[in-house]
Amino acid sequence: MMQRYFISQSQIDNNLIYVSEYDLKHMSKVMRYKNGDEVICILPDHSTHIYEILDISQGILSHKQQVDVSHELDVDVTLVYGLVKSDKFEFVLQKATELGVKRIVPFMSRRSIVKTTEEKFSGKYERFNKILKEAAEQSYREYIPELMPLTNLSGIKTYLSQRNLVAYEESSKAGESSAFRQSLKGDYHSITIVVGPEGGFEESEIKTLNQLGFVSCSLGKRILRTETAPLYMLSIIGYSRELK
Ligand code: SAM
Repeated sequence: MMQRYFISQSQIDNNLIYVSEYDLKHMSKVMRYKNGDEVICILPDHSTHIYEILDISQGILSHKQQVDVSHELDVDVTLVYGLVKSDKFEFVLQKATELGVKRIVPFMSRRSIVKTTEEKFSGKYERFNKILKEAAEQSYREYIPELMPLTNLSGIKTYLSQRNLVAYEESSKAGESSAFRQSLKGDYHSITIVVGPEGGFEESEIKTLNQLGFVSCSLGKRILRTETAPLYMLSIIGYSRELK
């Protein structure tokens, strides 16, 4: 199986690639590649290419051919996620990447247990982006999902799509059962889903989101953990688009 690597513009010199230190270590130490072996490189324009290892000691690859594939969802999915504890957040970063999300927007919700500032939180982005890159490579994606800056409730309006849903636990308790399915009907190219933190949503937050155009929906009869809910929604979106 040919390993996949995301390549940044600075690593490319015409038909050569100079591999990053991190990826070179993976190629030589983990994969034990030799000169002449081939790897798949995803370039900044999201195109997929086969490269041959020219010099494993220097990490130099040479272009062989472009490959016409795509493993991306045919809709642009944005997950707006109420700030949760790091372990849960990192779990959702990884799983949402496998499930095809395009961008993840953390927001400070009234019931977020974690209290932090945008500055403190952005200090973790290097670690978060490594999780996104590795999950994208592992799941054969051509995109690494974008992690947006920490925002607040009103900042969510920046991320409205053609379809907009907020998973609301009280909709489930009230027996709602069709809004999610209805929102996936017909032709659309982008969808934004909002999920609350461990403590769920305040009613006033839901009112604001509804006014912004987010439709409240149930995710079924059971109350899911905050880290399960996004995966449930992304799985259903993926199923509805790819497994007809
Ligand atoms: N503390 C809330 C309670 O006990 O009612 C539960 C919040 S739940 C753990 C975290 C988030 O997952 C919710 O804010 C919602 O976005 C989503 N969620 C979980 N189960 C859901 C369901 N059955 N219907 C709609 N949203 C759900």
